[in-house]
Amino acid sequence: MLQREIKNLSEQVKRLVKAESRLYRYQEELDAQLKEYKDLYELNRKLNETFDVTSIFLHTVDYLTQHLEYERAIALQRTANGDYRVAALAGYYDDLEKSCVAALTISPDAPLLAPLSRGEEFLISTTDAADGALREFGARGYLNEFFIFPLGRYAPRALIVVGNSADKAEFYRKVDAGHENLVSTGNVIGLVSSALEKNSLYAALGESEYRLKSVVENLTEGLILIDPAGEGLQWNRAALLMHGYSRSVDEVASCPKLDQVFQLLQVDGKPLPMEQLPIKRILRGEEFKDYHLVVRRRNTDWQRTFSFSGVLIRDCRGEPFIGVLTLHDVTSRKQSEDERERLIAELQRSNGELQQFAYVSSHDLQEPIRMVTSYAQLLQKRYQGKLDDKADSYISYMVEAAHRMSSLIDDLLALSRVGRSKSPPAPVALEPVVQQALDNMRISIGESGAEVTYGPLPTVPGDEIQLLQLFKNLIGNAVKYRKKDVPPRVHISAVRKGNQWVFGVHDNGIGIEPQYHERIFVIFQRLHYREDYPGTGIGLSICQKIVENHGGRIWVESTLGEGSTFYFTLPAKDD
Ligand code: ADP
Repeated sequence: MLQREIKNLSEQVKRLVKAESRLYRYQEELDAQLKEYKDLYELNRKLNETFDVTSIFLHTVDYLTQHLEYERAIALQRTANGDYRVAALAGYYDDLEKSCVAALTISPDAPLLAPLSRGEEFLISTTDAADGALREFGARGYLNEFFIFPLGRYAPRALIVVGNSADKAEFYRKVDAGHENLVSTGNVIGLVSSALEKNSLYAALGESEYRLKSVVENLTEGLILIDPAGEGLQWNRAALLMHGYSRSVDEVASCPKLDQVFQLLQVDGKPLPMEQLPIKRILRGEEFKDYHLVVRRRNTDWQRTFSFSGVLIRDCRGEPFIGVLTLHDVTSRKQSEDERERLIAELQRSNGELQQFAYVSSHDLQEPIRMVTSYAQLLQKRYQGKLDDKADSYISYMVEAAHRMSSLIDDLLALSRVGRSKSPPAPVALEPVVQQALDNMRISIGESGAEVTYGPLPTVPGDEIQLLQLFKNLIGNAVKYRKKDVPPRVHISAVRKGNQWVFGVHDNGIGIEPQYHERIFVIFQRLHYREDYPGTGIGLSICQKIVENHGGRIWVESTLGEGSTFYFTLPAKDD
C-alpha cells in the first residue's frame, strides 16, 4: 500500500518536473518573442524618424544581421533607369568581398527576378537549390543560402537579401522557409515598406509644395497670401518689387512692420476707412476685382496706384482656408487714362468753341453779305450799259462773287447748325420728307428734265429738319452732276438690314473716280470747276454730319461715266 503510494508520488513528481521544463521552455519562447517585438518596435521608431531613404536601408540591414542573426544582409534599391543597386549592406565581409558586393547590380528583366513578377512573395536559395540564376547571384553576393524579399509586388522599389555564406553558415540563423523565419523577416519587410511609403508620400508632398511655392514666387503678378487665422501675410517677389523692394523675399517678408510701412488711400487721395482695406474685405468673405487704391510709403513721396483683386478660399468644410490678394500696378495706365480724359475734355472744349465761332461768324456775316449782294445787283440793274464795258464786267464779277459768298455763308451756317442741334429724336416719316424736298427743288428739277422716284420709305427716329436737308443735298447733287445729253434719273430706295435701314440715292450722272470716293466728304473738296458745276464743296460734309449725328454712316459707290449711288444708314425704330 505504502509502496503503491510512493510509486504514485514519484510518478507525479516526474510529471511535475516534465511540466516545469515545458513551462520553462514556453517562458523562454515568450521572452524571445517579447524581445523580438521590443526590437521591432525600436526599429520602427528609427525607420519613422528619418526622411533619408539610405538610413532606412541601413537600419534595416543592421536589424537583420544583429537581431535576426543572419550573417549578411543587403538592400538593393531601384534606380531611375530600373536597375537595382546596393543601397546598404551589413554583416561580416572582408574588404574585397565588401567592395564586390557593394558594386552588385540586378537588371529589372534579369531571369532571377522573373518569379517575383509572377507574384511570388520571396525567392529562396538553399544549398540544395538547383536554380542557376539564384546560384549565380549567390556567388556574386558571397552567399550560398539566402532569401530575396521584394518591397512591393511588381517592379518592386527595393530588394532585401538576407543569408549566410558557405563556411560559417552553422553560426547563424538557418535559411529555410519555416514559419518562424518567414514571420520574423516578414515583420521587418512590412515595417520597411510602410516607412518607405510614408517617406515617398512626404517627398511628393514636399515637392508639390515646392513647385507651388516657385510658381507663386515667379508670378509676374503681385500676390499676397493671407492666413485667415491672422498669422500673417506672405508676399511674392512681384508684390515686393511693386512696393519698391529689391531685397530677397524672405528678408523683407520677415520684417514684421511691412504692412505698417505703407498707407492705402482712395484714388482721389482721401483716407481709406479701415473696413475697406483689401485684407479686411477678404477676411469678411467679400470677393472683389479691379479695386483701385493708392499705395503710399509713409513719410516719403513714393506713391503708386494698384488694382487689387481678392478672394477668400474655403476648405471642404466651408472654413476659411486662405485669402488671396492679387495686385497690379496701374499707375501708368491711370496716368494715361487721366491724360486721355483731359485731352478729350480739351478737344471737346475747343471743338465747341470752333463750332460757336463758325456759327456766330456765318450768322453775323449773312446780313452784310446780303447787303453787298443786293447793292451789287442794284448797281448792275441801274448802271448796266451806262458806263463803259469794263465797268459792266467788274460789276458782274462783283455780283457773282457776292452770290457765291452768300451761298458759302449759307452752307457754312447750315453745317454749324447740324452740330448744334440737340433736339431729341422723334419718329420721322421719310416719304413726306422726300416729297417736301422734291417740292422745294421743283424748279431746278423741272429745268433739268429729271425724273425722281422713290420706293416705299420707312419712319425712323431722328430730326426732321436735318433729314430734309440730307435728302435735299443728295437729290440736288444727283441732279446737278448729270451727264450733258442724258436726262437725269434719280431713285431713292430703303432696305432693312438688321436693326438699321440702308438708304440709297441712285443716279445716272457723271460718276466719280474711285480715288475720290472718300475725299468728297471732306469740307471744301470739289472735283469740278465752278464754271462747269457750281457749288461750295460743303454739301456732302453736311450730309455726313447729319448721318453721323443720327448714329449712321455714309459712303458712295460709283463708276465714272455711269452714275453713282450715295448710301447711308439710319437706325430703325424699335419695334
Ligand atoms: P458741291 O456739290 O457743293 O461741290 P458736295 O460736298 O455736295 O459739294 O460734293 C462734293 C463733290 O462731290 C462735288 O464737287 C462733286 O465733285 C462730287 N459729287 C457729289 N455728288 C455727286 C454725284 N451725285 N455725282 C457725281 N459727283 C458728285
